[in-house]
Amino acid sequence: MKRYPCSGCSLLCDDIIVKSDGLFIDKIIGACLKGKERFDQVSAQNRITSPLIRKNNELINVSWEEALAKTVEIIKNSSAPLLYGFSNVTCEAQRAGMDLAREINGFIDSNASICQGKILNKAKSQGINLTTITEIINKGDLIILWGANPAETIPRLLNKVLFSRGKFRMTGREIKTLVIIDPVKTASFRVMGVRDLALIIEPDKDIELIQMLKEECCSADSIPSGGVAGIDKSDLKRLLLHLTGAENGVIILGQGVLQPHADYDLIEELLDLLQLINDRQVKGRISLLLLGGHFNMAGFDHVALSSYGVSGKLQFENKKLVKSEDTIVSKINKENFDCSIIVGTDPISHLPHSLSSKLARKPLILIDNHSSATSRIADVILPTSITGIESSGLVYRIDQVPVELKKILNPPNNIPSDEELLNQLIKKFNGGAK
Ligand code: SF4
Repeated sequence: MKRYPCSGCSLLCDDIIVKSDGLFIDKIIGACLKGKERFDQVSAQNRITSPLIRKNNELINVSWEEALAKTVEIIKNSSAPLLYGFSNVTCEAQRAGMDLAREINGFIDSNASICQGKILNKAKSQGINLTTITEIINKGDLIILWGANPAETIPRLLNKVLFSRGKFRMTGREIKTLVIIDPVKTASFRVMGVRDLALIIEPDKDIELIQMLKEECCSADSIPSGGVAGIDKSDLKRLLLHLTGAENGVIILGQGVLQPHADYDLIEELLDLLQLINDRQVKGRISLLLLGGHFNMAGFDHVALSSYGVSGKLQFENKKLVKSEDTIVSKINKENFDCSIIVGTDPISHLPHSLSSKLARKPLILIDNHSSATSRIADVILPTSITGIESSGLVYRIDQVPVELKKILNPPNNIPSDEELLNQLIKKFNGGAK
């Protein structure tokens, strides 16, 4: 039995015990249901283990030779390829994806750009206070879930950060206050105790709460008597006291807060509020933890920054990086692409129909290891090994800490890792030379 990190979500729990003979996994100890599902993907019914091409509107099993030749043909016929996904692959595969985008003069972006990457981009100009899981475990006394439901998306996060004692304290859960701000009572509310604070906010009123907190940051006296955004005055007072009195507070920010708004920039307002609180905090500070779900959502920005000096999306022309105001959403919306290479994600399910239908209209190459709504409309499917079980590599945890995923088993049919496959594509595209 050996310890392995789990690639079931971005928490990358490093305490999973796996018993394996190198051919099969016999036992998994310590993983949550989601983690167990990840290990079960090895033999799941929807696993794809050989390449497929669409012929006469049907996906047909073909040889690797034929699938790679078809992929290169699609890419060579394209003048504006789009590469998207890359949050469920290693940093090495992300780097190979960027190299491929450069070789084929494409636009590459990750799932992070419509999720936590938005905040990191804003933070470039405004600054940001981040924290680590270890710091929250050891020193945290206030945990705010804002539009975040980790009980379902990152199942062991609350176990680790809320119910833990930490290295420097005799006390644990009893000194950690949990505040949840959400328009719906999610599964995470179930762990709340009597000292905690449940704030059901009216939908789309987060901006009113943030603006009130900014105005009243130093005094709770002038909070409107009728409350704000559906939250009553006494609860708002308690929230202010927690925010300004915590020694080590963290706001765990979820997707719910990241939706774009036409009239204001919620992320900018939130970062402003944090700065204001931290400027005026007497004894402590409030940090952010960005709740990205995919196991290497944080990696893409690190790789883009270290490889090309910019974070987020990259546009290449004449094999050189050029400036672009486009985002993955604007590219698809304006139909400013003529084929797509989707890696380890399912945009046909995740993107709004207005975008996914445009994506589906152009040739689509899917690199993934299981069937999905995207695989159903793909023109070519190139299967890869399951990262963290059948192949290894570097990934970044939810709190930006690097973690090395390990290989436990050989993949079926010797299918390549994402990194190997992307490098093979570069080679094929260049007629054999990388
Ligand atoms: S919380 Fe995430 S990383 Fe941890 S065991 Fe569950 S799925 Fe795996």
